[in-house]
Amino acid sequence: MAKKKIIKRSWAEPFKIKVVEPIKMTTRTEREKAAKEAGYNTFLIKSDDVYIDLLTDSGTNAMSDRQWAGMMMGDEAYAGSKNFYHLWDNVKKYYGMPHFVPTHQGRAAEHMISKIMIKQGDYVPGNMYFTTTRLHQELAGATFVDVIVDEAHDPKNENPFKGNIDLNKLEDLIKKVGAKKIPYVSMAGPVNMAGGQPFSMKNLKDVSVLCNKHKIKLWFDATRACENAYFIKEKEKGYANKTIAELLKEMCSYYDGLWVSAKKDLMVNIGGFLATRNKRVYEEARNMVVVYEGLHTYGGLAGRDMEAMAIGIEEMVEYDNIRARIGQVEYCGHELEKYGVPFVKPIGGHAIFLDAKRILKHLPQNQFPAQTLAAEIYVDSGVRGMERGVVSAGRDPETGDHRYPNLELVRLTFPRRVYTQAHIDVAVESIASVYENRKNVKGLKMVYEPKYLRFFQCKFEKL
Ligand SMILES: *Cc1c(COP(=O)(O)O)cnc(C)c1O
Repeated sequence: MAKKKIIKRSWAEPFKIKVVEPIKMTTRTEREKAAKEAGYNTFLIKSDDVYIDLLTDSGTNAMSDRQWAGMMMGDEAYAGSKNFYHLWDNVKKYYGMPHFVPTHQGRAAEHMISKIMIKQGDYVPGNMYFTTTRLHQELAGATFVDVIVDEAHDPKNENPFKGNIDLNKLEDLIKKVGAKKIPYVSMAGPVNMAGGQPFSMKNLKDVSVLCNKHKIKLWFDATRACENAYFIKEKEKGYANKTIAELLKEMCSYYDGLWVSAKKDLMVNIGGFLATRNKRVYEEARNMVVVYEGLHTYGGLAGRDMEAMAIGIEEMVEYDNIRARIGQVEYCGHELEKYGVPFVKPIGGHAIFLDAKRILKHLPQNQFPAQTLAAEIYVDSGVRGMERGVVSAGRDPETGDHRYPNLELVRLTFPRRVYTQAHIDVAVESIASVYENRKNVKGLKMVYEPKYLRFFQCKFEKL
């Protein structure tokens, strides 16, 4: 009798391809030239010279046929567009926030909330920083204080909720500076800079209790909230039977308000918003948006963009959609493991973060190991990632020195619904090959540096 085989059961994407966008194949010589011209900064490489673009998942998503159909339903009235009302309805329904102001993207909402809430000399605690979030908090006069759990700074630690806030760190800050100097706690999930690591529902509840006790507001960077909800469902006890929509609603219920870059979870190419249950904050934001963005019923967006966002909210909470999104990241991680390439564990929600410190051990941090590694991978195969290390961390505003973060990473970020498993295989094999030749790689020196968010525009030369 034939032995019964154990049959592997795979999942596949819950969509099929209707339109294709050809991409250019380049030679190594062409890529060497392109990398040099771009000052070894992957942000400065022309997209046309990129084969597989894992630079970011921000606005690089493939919209669905429903979203494209929604674009044709754009109501481009200056005031009171029907798409604005559709979007507002969905913000109420899925995020549970009654008040809402659209913005052209996430940082515009961050700008407004920072200006509204922060006074000169305040402190804003957060679970690790995000580049634009912290910059707007600092520009508004606050000192940002990282209160994430220590495990988040250790790329080998496999704690499933490395995005959690350390309650002791938060309490210590409250004792030290006083609750009156803390306008709000800024919480994001999953935490991009920690490697796409989520917070748990329990941690959120505990933080909320502590904030309430001290009358400190709690705000949510909900840009990737559905990814966080997925991890809670998969990894936290007691939540396996909840839907993504239920988890999103529950998470949001603990916050006073939130901001969103719609270029992530919502699977559109542009957009953002601010939403809150606080009427005073809403009224100020609704007034401020007119100064910086446009009327409060379009906030710098076209009506069609708001329609695509409204539909995107309905699609982002579908379980099969978010499972395929995070499943692709997991697939990439499991393949890289087969070659022994070190990266941040556990595998995060939106990206693989290669551990450049462990890969290019021979390069000191002031030779920019992550920047170097990203450039090497691009030259090898046309796969574009980005630096998340000393360059992204910028300079200390007090001392003017580089900030040297523990984590020196190259981020490979997965646009939603864009690439196939074969693209991931090509990327993995290229990284494995660079890893094998790692000892021959030389570092970089910085030759141009802009003042703000330097990682976008700075330039390097090979040592
Ligand atoms: C992208 C992002 C932002 C900034 O949003 P933009 O739309 O790029 O301005 C803020 N927070 C998080 C967590 C993000 O991922």
